[in-house]
Amino acid sequence: MKHKFQAESLMMTYGYKPELSEGAVKPPIFQTSTFVFKTAEQGKAYFELAYGLRKKEENEEQGLIYSRINNPNLEILENRLCLWDKADDCAVFESGMSAISTVLLEFLKPGDLLLFSSPVYGGTDHFIHHYLKSVGVDSIGITAQHSQAEIIKLIEDSGKADKLAFIFLETPANPTNDLIDIQMCKHIANHFSTDSKQVVIGVDNTYMGPIWSHPLEHGADLVIYSATKYIGGHSDLIAGAVLGNATYMNRVKVLRTFLGNMPSPHTCWLLLRSLETMKIRMEQQMRNARKVAAFLNSHPLVDKVYYLGLLDEASKDYELYKRQYSSPGAMLSFDIKGGEKTAFQFLNQLRLIKMAVSLGSTESLAQHPASMTHAGVCPEKRQKMNITDSLIRISVGVENYQDLIWDVEQALGTVDEVPSKQYKVEYAMNEV
Ligand SMILES: *Cc1c(COP(=O)(O)O)cnc(C)c1O
Repeated sequence: MKHKFQAESLMMTYGYKPELSEGAVKPPIFQTSTFVFKTAEQGKAYFELAYGLRKKEENEEQGLIYSRINNPNLEILENRLCLWDKADDCAVFESGMSAISTVLLEFLKPGDLLLFSSPVYGGTDHFIHHYLKSVGVDSIGITAQHSQAEIIKLIEDSGKADKLAFIFLETPANPTNDLIDIQMCKHIANHFSTDSKQVVIGVDNTYMGPIWSHPLEHGADLVIYSATKYIGGHSDLIAGAVLGNATYMNRVKVLRTFLGNMPSPHTCWLLLRSLETMKIRMEQQMRNARKVAAFLNSHPLVDKVYYLGLLDEASKDYELYKRQYSSPGAMLSFDIKGGEKTAFQFLNQLRLIKMAVSLGSTESLAQHPASMTHAGVCPEKRQKMNITDSLIRISVGVENYQDLIWDVEQALGTVDEVPSKQYKVEYAMNEV
């Protein structure tokens, strides 16, 4: 009888054969640089495949050669990650940034034009504006407010429409959860693609994936992750991943082989452990985030909460949110009344929530984007993105939500200019 298991049911076993490892129920860490060939003929056959000198025979799998090219921990991890995004293939990396930079290096050549959504992760922004610029790759930044017609006009007005090669999107945007329509960008990619040149779309899905959004289903060619965040989920490793169709992934993997930026067997092993609980972690984080967001939204010291679960159902974004995501996620930010002074008072007073950058981990983290993650963005641009001195970002973890609300409530209670001393935690609890 055939049965199709859900991805979460396969995270403990898929792609691993205990009989090849003394029956160990979990994959051992294959802490080895190289692999022994049984015969010279076998070594020759493995290299022929690895170097693309011949096609795979039916049911033939690439044999193990050398840990920069392949390693069992790396391969099991890649096979399991493919299940969530229903991708042909996956390549894991030693960081999210190495995943992003490898993709951009592979798909952009000097003279090409890159379209990217703004704001993007600070490291991505730096790579686009410094490294890519220095090798002659021009770029155009778009925001969630741009329409399809406006973007097409921007590209045409650049005089480099025929050079558009790659569209890089990050949605929802950090830290304000602005949404970019992937399908709309697919139309733009099609508009500028020709028979000889396909405009490729890559989406950084770190904020919502791989559980709550699947960009490949909306027209993306590649989906990219900082696996440091939800996939790793315990703030104890740095890693990245790229997934997509076989043709594009072959290109990404070949470049990775020569840049040598694959993760270690130990990092892959940690990620395999993390994948087993990823879905339940993320679901609990989302449930907690809903409660914390509702509490903040009802607090007199909070001006605005940026959380997808609070979108107005009549807004334009709401339709896009429902189409592209299956959950509001566990990332939120809010404007505190006052400015940097009250924001800092709040952050300094938190007891349970730790003050640190990064996100998606089991512990809740808070930070001040204007002076921390987005300190490198020029002040006018920051203002345009709503990254004010009053903005605080929280990555919600798996703690008990009442403890999280208690912490936020007591920290808000210590800032100057509290408008209502009568405000009670009990009241807020009933509201959420
Ligand atoms: C953290 C992050 C990155 C970079 O990932 P590293 O693992 O730190 O290299 C890229 N994109 C987003 C959205 C991130 O949050």
